Amino acid sequence: TKYVYKFNEGRASMKNLLGGKGANLAEMMHIGLPVPPGFTVTTEACTRYYQEGGKIPGEVIEQVFEALESLEETTGKKFGSSDNPLLVSVRSGAPVSMPGMMDTILNLGLNDATVEGLARSTGDRRFAYDCYRRFIQMFADVVLNVEHERFEEIISSVKNKKGINYDTDLTAEDWQEVLESYKNLVVKHTGRQFPQDPKDQLVMAVEAVFRSWNNQRAIVYRKINKIPDDLGTAVNVQAMVFGNMGEDSGTGVAFTRNPSTGEREIYGEFLLNAQGEDVVAGIRTPKNIKELRSIMPDVYKQLEDVCSLLERHYRDMQDIEFTVEKGKLYLLQTRSGKRTAEAAVKIAVDMVKEGLISKEEAVLRVSPEHVTSLLHRRIDPNAKVEVIAKGLPASPGAASGQVVFSPDEAETLGQQGHKVILVRTETTPDDIHGIVMAQGVLTSRGGMTSHAAVVARGMGKPCVCGCEALSIDYKNEEFRVGELVVKKGDIISIDGSTGKVMLGEVPMIDPVLSEEFRELLKWADEIRRLSVRANADTPQDAKLARDFGAEGIGLCRTEHMFMGQDRLPIVQQMIMATTREERERALEKLLVFQRQDFEGILEAMHDLPVTIRLLDPPLHEFLPDAEELVDEIAQLKAKGDMDGLKEKQEMLKKVKALREFNPMLGLRGCRLGILYPEIYEMQVRAIFQAACNLAKKGVKVIPEVEIPLVSNANELKQLRKLVENVASQVMDEEGVKVEYSIGTMIEIPRACITADEIAEYADFFSFGTNDLTQTTYGFSRDDAEAKFLPQYINQKILQEDPFIVLDRKGVGTLMKTAVELGRKVKENLAVGICGEHGGEPNSIEFCHEIGLDYVSCSPYRVPIARLAAAHAVL
Ligand code: ADP
Ligand code: MG
Ligand code: MG
Repeated sequence: TKYVYKFNEGRASMKNLLGGKGANLAEMMHIGLPVPPGFTVTTEACTRYYQEGGKIPGEVIEQVFEALESLEETTGKKFGSSDNPLLVSVRSGAPVSMPGMMDTILNLGLNDATVEGLARSTGDRRFAYDCYRRFIQMFADVVLNVEHERFEEIISSVKNKKGINYDTDLTAEDWQEVLESYKNLVVKHTGRQFPQDPKDQLVMAVEAVFRSWNNQRAIVYRKINKIPDDLGTAVNVQAMVFGNMGEDSGTGVAFTRNPSTGEREIYGEFLLNAQGEDVVAGIRTPKNIKELRSIMPDVYKQLEDVCSLLERHYRDMQDIEFTVEKGKLYLLQTRSGKRTAEAAVKIAVDMVKEGLISKEEAVLRVSPEHVTSLLHRRIDPNAKVEVIAKGLPASPGAASGQVVFSPDEAETLGQQGHKVILVRTETTPDDIHGIVMAQGVLTSRGGMTSHAAVVARGMGKPCVCGCEALSIDYKNEEFRVGELVVKKGDIISIDGSTGKVMLGEVPMIDPVLSEEFRELLKWADEIRRLSVRANADTPQDAKLARDFGAEGIGLCRTEHMFMGQDRLPIVQQMIMATTREERERALEKLLVFQRQDFEGILEAMHDLPVTIRLLDPPLHEFLPDAEELVDEIAQLKAKGDMDGLKEKQEMLKKVKALREFNPMLGLRGCRLGILYPEIYEMQVRAIFQAACNLAKKGVKVIPEVEIPLVSNANELKQLRKLVENVASQVMDEEGVKVEYSIGTMIEIPRACITADEIAEYADFFSFGTNDLTQTTYGFSRDDAEAKFLPQYINQKILQEDPFIVLDRKGVGTLMKTAVELGRKVKENLAVGICGEHGGEPNSIEFCHEIGLDYVSCSPYRVPIARLAAAHAVL
């Protein structure tokens, strides 16, 4: 077997065998770039090494030495010679980039004799001793496990003794002194002399690279990044070039474009008179690469040419490492450069315009998850901030505002135009009205999928969850972090992308879709088949969704409209009503509010469909909880407020009457509509009055009335009739006709399995995958996430949180069944999804595969969904 490839025998396509670094060195050599010659020991040799129980097979060693001879011929230097010694670097390189692995060894081949040869052949003793001490230090660190620090201590003490600051100020004699101490240190630590035979050095170094594949850092890195353990690493042995040969030499790293903005410019750093690791080691501060233009104009020109050649060849932004030896440029590494989302978008779009890549490639180059960071307000990266605590980064974006502990207060202040951050131990559905009006949410308990997190993400609001350092004292309206006390009204900032909590206001930058991003999304639109809608229940959200490219509203929830402080008391009156008259009076008042709500949304979404879901949650969610009432009753009793007392006692009675053992599976959704038809009638009336009013003004509206939680076709049959009756009644009264449709949420397994029967009465289906996941697994989401889901994921019982990534096997199969059964009855049944999964790229891909017509997600995720829907096609 061939275990060793000379650089001129490899190509970029051979990454699995030669590792990324080796394959790209070969490729660069192939296209005529100045790469110091060398060879690569394959990943298969590494695998063999482990198969043989940690021994390098003789065959491999033989091939290494053969390649070494050929390298001697190419360079005209001799390994181990004391006249003109060949020195090499030994570099690891796995098929995928892995920072946890072995550090590079430079200047291998030096010993007490060859160092004198290097001094003579270069005429520079100082340089030669510097190389030798670097080599000992690296080799001892990497191969012999002598701590790097101990060597640095030696240099420091010599520098102190001499009273100098920089390594470059040490003389040849100083370095000789350092060398003696280095060698003694090695003997002291290993009990042996530093290896003097260069061939021994080489074999030991190769073995160290193989060993490093299984060091702790590397194993952990592979685990986190899901990299298979059996790939193995290659080893690159390469002739040295020297950046430390004086002021006409140096070393640096560069990106072919700015990795932070995507701007087309060389971006990077370099150090004069330095070798490899000096740049990263931070011993001296590197200079901006642009300065190279004036210091070495020739080299800079070469670098520019190299960058543009590499980009044309690889058709992507590259991250390169280079060295300049006496005015000549050498390339030592290239790979695709990591970049921010902003840069990824700009580079992809620019490269299409430069004719380097196709639009499809550009769309594929930008990952949907990556661009989430472009869609939220962010902290100005240049700002100075005072971090007081850190929680979970639950919903990206950043916000500043006054600390507020009560949702009601958040709502009041928010409505007056104040910016507030709602701080709670955790949130519940009752807090929604406060969350709506807050800039962001901070909780001391709960995980990434707690109520606060889910709701905040849905609204595109920043949220930091589970910030356990916070101890919240509702009574005194303050929270503590250690010694620090933050009171109601104090200003804090949170960053939901990092989980940081900061004191005071911090400067922010707004999300704006850049020209390039809009262009890229347009290309995605040309590719995708799925249409993308938004979940929105206010005109503001609807407008935002439209601006982000939503093609309709896939879910307009109506319960949030019942939660406002001006509505809640009326909703409570409606619930508490004892006579039909009383109930109708309350509903009459609500009708006015609802009509306004719907007019706002339908108008904002003119010409586009709006799916409006009739009331879904159980009624008790609109009443205070029992404990709270008991407290209030006690207080009223003490005050002797008899009227108030009676009212609260009635309410308590009602709360008790409405109490359910398992509200999630109780009287909610269409069951409410069937038991209290007057509520649904009021909502439908409001929808059609709004629609007719707008139609009369010439606004084109497309309402779609949606019935939640259907499990049996008869439920829909009955409620469809209710909707049709009220709709035609209103349209008669108003004297206009509007087009509309009636459909249902599909969120109960039984509905999926009997979708053919249900489709008889439905113009459309919309998968409510939050409930469908709950009911399919029999998991109550909030309980699961608080109690056992994290452990399930840790123990790999579940690979992923099914509330985040759609479970294709179970929930997905039900969905597929429903689509098939539904379309069998109604060929052109429109089918979409409006659960949180509708904005998650992996789930979107599945929705594409099973032939849905649209996905619907929070407005902020619309661009992500557009991109993901295009990825699903490609
Ligand atoms: P890493 O993967 O940590 O970047 P590398 O193997 O790329 O490690 O080596 C780090 C640095 O060492 C290179 O960027 C380069 O500056 C220097 N280096 C490696 N090989 C040589 C060589 N043959 N001649 C000169 N410098 C080298
Ligand atoms: Mg490198
Ligand atoms: Mg539901």
